[in-house]
Amino acid sequence: MEKKDIDWSGLGFGYVQTDKRYVANFKNGAWDEGVLTDDANIVMNECAGVLQYAQTCFEGLKAYTTEDGRTVCFRPDLNAERMYNTAQRLEMPPFPKDKFIDAVKQVVKANEAWVPPYGSGATLYLRPYMFGINPVIGVKPADDYQFRIFATPVGPYFKGGAKPLTLCVSDFDRAAPHGTGHIKAGLNYAMSLHPIVEAHKAGYAENMYLDAATRTKVEETGGANFLFITKDNKVVTPKSNSILPSITRRSLMYVAKEYLGLEAEEREVHFDEVKDFAECGLCGTAAVISPVGKIVDHGKEICFPSGMDEMGPITKKLYDTLTGIQMGRLEAPEGWIVEI
Ligand SMILES: *Cc1c(COP(=O)(O)O)cnc(C)c1O
Repeated sequence: MEKKDIDWSGLGFGYVQTDKRYVANFKNGAWDEGVLTDDANIVMNECAGVLQYAQTCFEGLKAYTTEDGRTVCFRPDLNAERMYNTAQRLEMPPFPKDKFIDAVKQVVKANEAWVPPYGSGATLYLRPYMFGINPVIGVKPADDYQFRIFATPVGPYFKGGAKPLTLCVSDFDRAAPHGTGHIKAGLNYAMSLHPIVEAHKAGYAENMYLDAATRTKVEETGGANFLFITKDNKVVTPKSNSILPSITRRSLMYVAKEYLGLEAEEREVHFDEVKDFAECGLCGTAAVISPVGKIVDHGKEICFPSGMDEMGPITKKLYDTLTGIQMGRLEAPEGWIVEI
C-alpha cells in the first residue's frame, strides 16, 4: 500500500480530511447497512436534536502500524461497548457492537494510505460518533440518528520528549455524582471548555477535577484519568462512579499487575494524600500516559519527586510496556490487538 506523502512526524493533533468515512442511519426504528462515503459534510435540518439539545456522543481510538508492518487497532471492542453504554444513558439507539468493529475495520482499510508508518510516532485517529438528526423542538429524544466514523492522521503526542505537566485544581466541577461523567457525551466537553480556557490563561496544562459532592476526592481531568504511584511502587487509580472508564487506564492497571508484577488498586483517592505519591500521570488514547510534575491548589504547590524533566521511573515502565504491546514489540494479551 502506497502511503500518502506526508511529514508524519510533523503532524499535530488536528483534523486532516481523509478519503473515506463510514455512515449508518437509524430510521423507522432500525439501523441501515451503513456505507463508506467520500462526502465529509453532513446536511441536517435546522432543528436537528443534536443542534438543539446536544444529543450526541463519541469515541476515540487509533489505528497504527506495528513493528512487523501490520495495520492494527487497540481494543476496539471496548470502544464499541463503551459507546453502547453511553448511547443507552442518552436515550439513543445503541449501535450494535459487532457492526461498530466492522465499521472501524472498513474505515481503516479504506484509508490505509493514511495509516502512518511504524516509527513515525504518528497514528490514524478514529472518531466514531452518533447524534440525533431529525427535528426535535419539545424536549425529548430524537427519532432518527446518524452514526459515523471518520479518520484523521495525528502526529506524535510527545514532540521532543514527554515533559511533565503542571495542573491546577479546578474550582469548577466536571461531573455530578449521579450525572453523566461516566459516559463519553459531547455535553461533558462543552461544559469543560470554559474551565480549560481559564486554566490555560493561568498557565496550566490541565484541570484536576475533584468530586462535586465533597470536593475532597480526586476524579480526573477534562479528558484523561489519573494514575498515581506510591513511594513503595504501588499503582493507584481513583475509583468513582463519575469518572469516564478510560480504556488506556484499564489496560495500564492490567499491565502493572500482569507484566510488571506491581500491586495495582482502584480506590477512592483523597486530595489530601496526593502530596504523598511519588509519581503522577494522565492516561488516555492520545498520549497513553502524560507525566504530571506539579499540581497547584490555589497557590499551594504539590511537586512530585519525579520532577519536571522526565517521566517517573514506574510511569516510564508502564508507558514502555503498554506501547510495546501496542506496537507488537511485546506479546499482547488475547484480543487486545485487532488486525485490519
Ligand atoms: C476519552 C476519555 C478518557 C480516556 O479514555 P481512553 O479510553 O483511555 O482514551 C478519559 N477521560 C475522559 C473524560 C474521556 O472522555
